[in-house]
Amino acid sequence: MKINLLSSDVYNRIAAGEVVDRPYSVVKELVENAIDAGASEITVEIEGGGKSRIRVTDNGGGIGKEDLPRAYAPHATSKLKDAEDLFTVSTLGFRGEAIASIAAVSRMNIVSKTKEGVACALSCEGGVLGEVHEAGGADGTEVTVEDLFFNTPARLKFLKSDSTEEGDVANMMARFLLSRPEISFTYRANGKVKYRSYGDGLASALVAVYGTEILDKCYEISADKHGIKLSGYLGNQNFSKPNRSWQNLFVNGRYVVNQTVSGAVTNAYAGYLMKRQYPFYVLFLAVPNEIVDVNVHPNKADVRFADNQIIYGSVYSVVSSVLDGNARALEYLAPSALPKTPVSSVSVDPVLKAEKQTASAPSVSAAPMKKMTYEAAKKELAFDVSPMAGKTPAPRLFDDDRNELRVAKPQFAASAVDVFEENRKLLREQEKKAEQERVEPDTLIYKGELFCTYLIYEGVECAYLIDQHAAHERLIYDRLRARCEARQVKSQPMLVPYLLEVNAQEYAFLIKNFPLLRELGFDIEEFGGTSIKVSAVPIDLQNIQMEAFFREVLSSLDGYKGIKLTDILKDKLASAACKAAVKGGESLTEGEVRELLKKMDGDMGLKCPHGRPVAVKVKKTELEKLFKRIV
Ligand code: ADP
Ligand code: MG
Repeated sequence: MKINLLSSDVYNRIAAGEVVDRPYSVVKELVENAIDAGASEITVEIEGGGKSRIRVTDNGGGIGKEDLPRAYAPHATSKLKDAEDLFTVSTLGFRGEAIASIAAVSRMNIVSKTKEGVACALSCEGGVLGEVHEAGGADGTEVTVEDLFFNTPARLKFLKSDSTEEGDVANMMARFLLSRPEISFTYRANGKVKYRSYGDGLASALVAVYGTEILDKCYEISADKHGIKLSGYLGNQNFSKPNRSWQNLFVNGRYVVNQTVSGAVTNAYAGYLMKRQYPFYVLFLAVPNEIVDVNVHPNKADVRFADNQIIYGSVYSVVSSVLDGNARALEYLAPSALPKTPVSSVSVDPVLKAEKQTASAPSVSAAPMKKMTYEAAKKELAFDVSPMAGKTPAPRLFDDDRNELRVAKPQFAASAVDVFEENRKLLREQEKKAEQERVEPDTLIYKGELFCTYLIYEGVECAYLIDQHAAHERLIYDRLRARCEARQVKSQPMLVPYLLEVNAQEYAFLIKNFPLLRELGFDIEEFGGTSIKVSAVPIDLQNIQMEAFFREVLSSLDGYKGIKLTDILKDKLASAACKAAVKGGESLTEGEVRELLKKMDGDMGLKCPHGRPVAVKVKKTELEKLFKRIV
């Protein structure tokens, strides 16, 4: 056998596949270059799903005449001089291989003009460079890529249909609009404008991508927790999507898909959304650079965190506070009333921008808060995850947050500009709306039952269908949670203690959560080996199926290994409790239902712990329409 040295042409064609494999990845590289060049306006045009043509035009710094050939050279970059720079690099691309790789597998042309220089053009066909010549053109750069993979038929075969490729480019573009709201983007496919943003902020970019109605359906958040900043938009409790493609996460400005963060958000929504429904979000997470590893692979959109627990805990706690609308939510909702500082530099990402605004707001800097730093949080958590944690005092991470807030609150009230007034108004309005939706149970007339499940009640000009099982579940769930919160759970001793046999891993997990289980009303202790003895249960769960219940509790171990579980477990316990307590198909008496309605306190917007609605309202006019009495 003979060892051949590959010609650089062949090498580049192979390497190209690592950086660019589809039109959307070409678009990604070219747009990132435009952003790195400091552009404030970027236009992307594609034809034939990007297979026949991709053109990216920007008004950035441009490439000088002498540099033009160098832009095409592999490992040529203006963004990195030596290995030292690797650790401080802040631009998006720095490996200097995108242009070379794309040029090796397409017909590429670059026209560019720096402020001082003249516009020059240089093209390259399948890696063969042409001559630099002067051309007309405005300041900035225009890169055109035609006939992608024309010289690599194998890759060409792997491309999908034009419309699929177009869809992926559009997704990519949507992310750029969202992650760079300070840049004005225009995206055209086959001559039609698909997206256009104006570089005037995130709210505007959201509207550009998702339409004008989106803002009404979202909470805007801006939170700082343990040195981790979380900002952006969260869909409200009634706004769900059938899949995850509506979820956008940007970590330190980069779009990523990350299990820890998405898991935390999903779990925070668990009580509000039905199975197989997913929350909408556009979230920006800003974390200290030293705890995140983004340099995984140029095309892999994931990051690694040094400590998943802190990330998980912070995200979960912020999102669930906002959804539950508790006192802390005010802290996390965006202070949109803050005076806005104009953004001069184009390289500012929205997270940093938010940070800047907060820092410059007089009301906030006048009221310095004791913030727990990432380092401090880590120390506390290290304590929590030690194998013996069950024997040490319960973790106090979130308790501390509460104390912190108690300290911080009056200072806010005393500040000159009440930055949270807007949000408070919003919450009051929501409350008022809920109040209007409230129904007086006494005014409802019972009219019967359908399919042993739905109870029919007549109200004023409308009827209510109540899912009695969902209602029942919700009642028990609320009761349990309230009691947990108030630390006054009543236990019911069991005649025969229940013995639970588990494996070592499950054992460790349960031991660690003993304090929580005890708080919930379980009398639970070690029983030699890896067995556990339960001798009392919460009074609401007297008839609980112990095995099923613990299986449910332990199922939360799989997905979230090594993650702080307190909050998830509380929800899990309560919802598992409900499932065990309510047997499907069972019907209630009229008296029991009245009781139930009273306890619901007329709140018809309630959902069961699994997110199904408890009551559905049917207007008389809707029925009349069905019968064509009115149109
Ligand atoms: P990298 O972005 O990793 O440096 P590329 O192959 O993507 O590598 O680009 C090579 C070089 O070409 C860049 O470092 C930059 O100097 C120049 N360049 C590419 N695109 C643009 C652009 N739109 N505006 C200005 N300079 C550009
Ligand atoms: Mg690049």
